[in-house]
Amino acid sequence: MPTITDHKFPCPVCTRSIEVRVTKKGKPYVTCDPCGVQMFVRGPAGIAEFERLIEQGNRDGLPERLAEMERRYRLTCPECGNKFWAEPGLIKTSGFDGSLKGFRCPQKGCGQIVPWGGKR
Ligand SMILES: [Zn+2]
Ligand SMILES: [Zn+2]
Repeated sequence: MPTITDHKFPCPVCTRSIEVRVTKKGKPYVTCDPCGVQMFVRGPAGIAEFERLIEQGNRDGLPERLAEMERRYRLTCPECGNKFWAEPGLIKTSGFDGSLKGFRCPQKGCGQIVPWGGKR
């Protein structure tokens, strides 16, 4: 049976705070049911880093940490209101000089370019 710990970790997709569980082999993992996300941390280096992140979260307070993550990486499409993560695959660069224009809204049929660092 997996052990549920007191620790929380943000879901990488929806940023909801989810409890960290530990497999019977002592490997931490998180499961976000609505997203269907399952993240296992298997390598010793990964586990050390994961524990560091949790500790940091405990110290700084997870809500602040989440807010920080959202501020940095979460974009809202002004066209359809879709919220999405800024990721390399969605980068839209200017065909003119190759500079970063923003991120393309992944919502089907939208494709609005959301400016990076703009008003959220
Ligand atoms: Zn989630
Ligand atoms: Zn959109």
